[in-house]
Amino acid sequence: MTASRRCSRCGYAVPHQYRSSDVIVVCFDCRRRRFRRVTLWSTAATVAVFILAILAWRFMSLSQIPDIGSPFAHTEVVASIRTVGESDNAFVIYDAIPITPEPKDYLDATNDWVAVPESWKIWLGENTEALAMMEAGSAKPSATYCLPDEHDFSNMLAVGHHRALSRLSLLNASRCQSKNEMYQSWHWLRIAYRHSRHCGMIGTHLDRSLGAFFHSSITRQILTWASNPRVDEALLRQALDEVRSDFAMTPSPLVSLLNEYYFEVNVFDQFPHDALPDQPEPNYLRDWLQCEPAWLENGTCPSERA
Ligand SMILES: [Zn+2]
Repeated sequence: MTASRRCSRCGYAVPHQYRSSDVIVVCFDCRRRRFRRVTLWSTAATVAVFILAILAWRFMSLSQIPDIGSPFAHTEVVASIRTVGESDNAFVIYDAIPITPEPKDYLDATNDWVAVPESWKIWLGENTEALAMMEAGSAKPSATYCLPDEHDFSNMLAVGHHRALSRLSLLNASRCQSKNEMYQSWHWLRIAYRHSRHCGMIGTHLDRSLGAFFHSSITRQILTWASNPRVDEALLRQALDEVRSDFAMTPSPLVSLLNEYYFEVNVFDQFPHDALPDQPEPNYLRDWLQCEPAWLENGTCPSERA
């Protein structure tokens, strides 16, 4: 006959084969509960140790990085951009230029006036005021459309507007060349050239790329112009000198890096609050990507937006 004793934990009667009363008797259910408890606690402890180890590793890694604060906060570059006066700033004029929408016809290149579609020639004729303002804007020594630490999605360069301004100047250069007005043609090529330098002057990497994109179209047209036998040696020398001095307006990559830094910081600050792509109006990022800034459609320019 099997002896029976009480479980030391729950008091339930357990069949027991040991005669010694020193053995502590624990029933199957209590053993199973204890096993579950031990497993749970050891898992929790392992996870906690793992998390603490990651936090400790992160802390040690970060503690080796010196705290340099904002890398551009007090550099001379920021100071020099801040001191650009309104009267020296080409964007004050560029942003206010009224220009009619570009024709839908495909425009292959602006340097061959004979091949330019009629709709583009009409467009050029419609925008004489824009040409005059473009001439005034391009003569400015500097160009900044917003201060470095204010860069974000809401004030990006209006690509469509500046592409139209660049094309307008090149078309006018082409028209002048077709009438054998070689000096006037160079004058308008130089305006487009300076505008390309202004676009990338004090902006982000995207602005710099946009300036470089305009620059490549313009230099192709300059080469066509320079190969025309009606351009004499004196005019060629003058053009070469002016190209060199205007190219000096191209900023150091540090300036683009600085603007890009502030752009990223500001965008990350704002993104969770008001720049989600599927939000309704206003969505400056979507407008910008579509090259159709809202202010072009509703007829107000950025200078009025302030
Ligand atoms: Zn028990």
